[in-house]
Amino acid sequence: MTAKLNLLDLSPQDMADFCVSLGEKPFRAQQLLKWIYQYGVTNFEDMTNIKRDLRERLSEIAEIRAPEIVTEQKSSDGTTKWALDIGDGQLVETVLIPEDDRNTLCISTQVGCPVKCAFCRTGASGFNRNLKVHEIIGQVFRAATRVGFSENNEQKPISNVVMMGMGEPLLNLTNVLKTTEILLSDYAFALSKRRVTISTSGVAPVIDKIAGKVDVALALSLHAANDKLRDILVPINKKYPIADVLSSVKHYLDKSNANCGRVTIEYVLLAGVNDSVDDAYELCRLLSHTPCKINLIPFNPHESSDFKRPSAKAIERFQQILIEKGFTVLKRSTRGDDIAAACGQLAGQVKDRMQKAATIESKTI
Ligand code: SAH
Ligand code: SF4
Repeated sequence: MTAKLNLLDLSPQDMADFCVSLGEKPFRAQQLLKWIYQYGVTNFEDMTNIKRDLRERLSEIAEIRAPEIVTEQKSSDGTTKWALDIGDGQLVETVLIPEDDRNTLCISTQVGCPVKCAFCRTGASGFNRNLKVHEIIGQVFRAATRVGFSENNEQKPISNVVMMGMGEPLLNLTNVLKTTEILLSDYAFALSKRRVTISTSGVAPVIDKIAGKVDVALALSLHAANDKLRDILVPINKKYPIADVLSSVKHYLDKSNANCGRVTIEYVLLAGVNDSVDDAYELCRLLSHTPCKINLIPFNPHESSDFKRPSAKAIERFQQILIEKGFTVLKRSTRGDDIAAACGQLAGQVKDRMQKAATIESKTI
């Protein structure tokens, strides 16, 4: 028996092609997408506006299957972390961060991460493989089963999705782009392009490649103002140094509406490493020609790292220098660190095999 097609693997265009392949009109795809992503229906029998013989055919050949949630942890600040089973004994993590005016979901794109930034727990856990579309969008689907789908909802639905969980999204490009299309589609999650963020360690050729083809918010994880330090903190910098990455980012911004002309620069503050007054001034000089807002992330400690979070005073001093130089600066509040759900604390359960998928995809670009 051949395996059933998981409809969560299909982009809206793939879904239309699938319906046409069944001899149906493309609008059936819109109906299917709505049932799945706006009502959370996984049983074809419940899709009442689809004729019975098609429902039967779909039940024979297709399924709607998101990875199962195996653990749920709730932080004292309301943040929730779920671990999802993606088979083979491996787990990926997803974090829901409720705020007054929004519900932000932080999703993973890879099992582990091959970039191995010096301070990141995900990087330290090794790398196994890229997540498939159903495993990425499945995180949003599962979270929606908890907080509610848009058409079936008493609570606040997911309003923002950030690809800041485990993995480097731009090393899993095909699947990340399909996921993005589902997030943006009016027939699926219908999120505004400003509310979907791809965060990257700076895979310059991929940023160039997607410029003008996908329009969502872009965040660049910079963390250092010179190549010497960035080579150590973010090893992919040896391949794509700062100047190349910033030039690719500008190219992306030129073709984007979602960013309102400004990229978000993420900067993890590490005590005694990149948090001095000189570091702050060097960062101002580096970014003087890059329209941006800067997100300072005080380091979140974890057992795989000896780095330390700077004192509140050092963080304040760093932030003040950037503000005086005219930058828009936000300090990211630490959410969910009591359950290891804060930035860079996600580890999931990764069977490291540190080659294959991501390296292959990165070589082909
Ligand atoms: N791989 C992508 C997205 C996931 S990481 C990227 O690097 O952008 C999301 C953010 O968390 C990045 O800015 C990353 O640098 C930051 N981060 C990683 N480890 C951290 C830690 N221990 N403390 C604070 N931020 C961390
Ligand atoms: Fe990977 Fe991002 Fe962690 Fe770096 S910070 S190891 S790119 S997940």
